[in-house]
Amino acid sequence: MRWLVAPMIYGLLLLMAPPSKAAGDVILSGPLMPGGLITGKTQPGSLITLNGKAVRVAAGGTFLLGFGRDAKPAQTLEIRAPNGFSYTRDLQLQPRSYQITRIDGLAERKVTPKPEDSKRIQQDNAGIGRVRRLDSHMEDFLSGFQWPASGRISGVFGSQRVLNGKPRSPHNGVDIAAPAGAPVHAAAAGSVALVHPDMFYSGKTVMIDHGHGLSSVYIHMRKIVVKPGQRVNKGDKIGEVGMTGRATGPHLHWGISLFTTHLDPMLVVAGKTGIEVAE
Ligand SMILES: [Zn+2]
Repeated sequence: MRWLVAPMIYGLLLLMAPPSKAAGDVILSGPLMPGGLITGKTQPGSLITLNGKAVRVAAGGTFLLGFGRDAKPAQTLEIRAPNGFSYTRDLQLQPRSYQITRIDGLAERKVTPKPEDSKRIQQDNAGIGRVRRLDSHMEDFLSGFQWPASGRISGVFGSQRVLNGKPRSPHNGVDIAAPAGAPVHAAAAGSVALVHPDMFYSGKTVMIDHGHGLSSVYIHMRKIVVKPGQRVNKGDKIGEVGMTGRATGPHLHWGISLFTTHLDPMLVVAGKTGIEVAE
């Protein structure tokens, strides 16, 4: 058993040497840091847990690991090979810090909703939550990810938000400033899992399921050109940049989650150009 980590962009480590050759190679590709998505490859038929939680392993041996904004630095990966041999590996995440972002000029009701808004917000969150619980067999994430729109990065993942002077949840995606009407493309292949014409915070919203619990979300659009259930390829147009929902100007907010764990899209998209390690 060889352990290899191909960190793609963050020049990390080579993990460990063989307790046994019987179980074959395990390859982890991606940044080992909060917000990072790791694509792993192991022997088909293996069982994998991360911190004791089962991880889906595809028929070909591919699996995904994701680390949230505040993931603890020590992560425990356990693999049980088809021959019953099991072993654990401690993964150390690189530390990461986040900036504070102040945004003023938002509609006050979008920062402190009125009591009558709460039902709508709950319904929106329920719809988003349903998509984030999907655990499909699809392996569309293997298409890799590209930027869904071009423009200046106006908001980064993880920043602590102060909206109209009030502390709010950390930013869970990346903002791309672009003119209203600029095209928005699917960041990876997948199945359109949610289309909503007007969420309270998100406005016109699309979510795409890429398989294994990995989904992407595109919000504040002014127009949507896909339908629920539709298959999309990486790069297909799904809508146009707008400023619906809570926004001070036209931009695309783009998010990626592994189930309910928000990941950093910038790390995910950067990961595709990395070095593949295989022997
Ligand atoms: Zn945003």
